[in-house]
Amino acid sequence: MDLFSMGVTALGPRKKIVHALSELRKQSTNTAEIRTDASRDAIDETSRPAVNKLITDFFPGSVGHRRKDCTSSSERREVERSHSNAGRKQKVVRKNVMHKKLRDIPQWCQVPGTPFRVDAFKYLRRDCSHWFLTHFHIDHYQGLSRSFSHGKICCSLITARLVNMKIGIPWDKLEVLPINQKISISGIDVTCFDANHCPGSILILFESPNGKAVLHTGDFRFCEEMTKISVLQTCRVQTLILDTTYCDPQYDFPKQEDVIQFVIEAIQAEAFNPKTLFLIGSYTVGRKERLFLEVARVLRKKVYVPAAKLRLLECLGLSVEDMRWFTLNEEESHIHVVPMWTLASFKRLKCISSQYAHRFSLIVAFSPTGWTFGKGKKKSSGRRWQQGTIVRYEVPYSEHCSFTELKEFVKFISPGNIVPSVNNDGPESANAMVSLLLS
Ligand SMILES: [Zn+2]
Repeated sequence: MDLFSMGVTALGPRKKIVHALSELRKQSTNTAEIRTDASRDAIDETSRPAVNKLITDFFPGSVGHRRKDCTSSSERREVERSHSNAGRKQKVVRKNVMHKKLRDIPQWCQVPGTPFRVDAFKYLRRDCSHWFLTHFHIDHYQGLSRSFSHGKICCSLITARLVNMKIGIPWDKLEVLPINQKISISGIDVTCFDANHCPGSILILFESPNGKAVLHTGDFRFCEEMTKISVLQTCRVQTLILDTTYCDPQYDFPKQEDVIQFVIEAIQAEAFNPKTLFLIGSYTVGRKERLFLEVARVLRKKVYVPAAKLRLLECLGLSVEDMRWFTLNEEESHIHVVPMWTLASFKRLKCISSQYAHRFSLIVAFSPTGWTFGKGKKKSSGRRWQQGTIVRYEVPYSEHCSFTELKEFVKFISPGNIVPSVNNDGPESANAMVSLLLS
């Protein structure tokens, strides 16, 4: 099945992919659209590493690879959300319908002190007219369809373009939120910031006249730039609704900058052999764009991207300077961006190798996999695998905060209270996460 042509756009663990596919099957209208790469699991199945070195060995202080957990956090999130919803439904069965519906809306989808909802299209009600969408990943826009008639969808320009193009929401139902600029919606000040997650993803700060500000992170990865935002430095946040995907001390992985630096150094180290072809795997919409852009900038070398990928990059609002690092002429570059599935097996890499035998004698492939844990298997990300003249790295390039980053962010924001938005199946788990963050 060609996920690309189906418009499958979000990246993420297998659970999301399976979910998206079942949604697609359910909705013949093609409204649930998420792009991802179904081959991730194939990586584990098809590769037989000849040299096994954890990439985290290259990063002092990283202990994440010792984690023995075998379920991905997003998988847990899905499972726990559905469990908790089921539980709640049972509890309120005797209440009137309206009461039941209100109870069903998770805490992290509501903005206290305002009539607003965030990423709550599964819980559409008539009592809200502004529906915020933090980013275009299926578990956040789920429930949104062409027939949406509950008011306005408020999101970033890039997300609005995707919602319009992929779901068919007309522009008059979309309210584009500026980045780093305070606007007023129904008497409430709203400011958005880049969430460093996927293109178009935002953190949203709500400041209501009651003085109790709410910061909703959506999905995000804390980075240096956020600490320089003066509004975040000075605003007293009462409630922080936080992406707690990796809220466990065992999730400690390198900073994106370190991973980028590692990839750059690896490329530089191999550059003595002019006949080396570098391949960087990429999904369609994710933060991986930054990885190959940084590689291009630092090495001052153009990166070859296929035409379809370039068209997508053009939608993401990259600067002219950034765009000039891309070329459609593969002869011009020895760093090629390829779909992730291309790197899934050595067999496939060998095909590429023979295809390019006249130009290249060595292939070095980088697979930015995020942080995944195979079911019941030893965690497979962060390894260096080699077979003959083919080397493949799986790079732990996560689009969510590590536990350390989560703690740093909480310290930086210093909120009155925290509402975990992931793996939150009730007060007990929420309290456990909050105390970990404050410890
Ligand atoms: Zn996301």
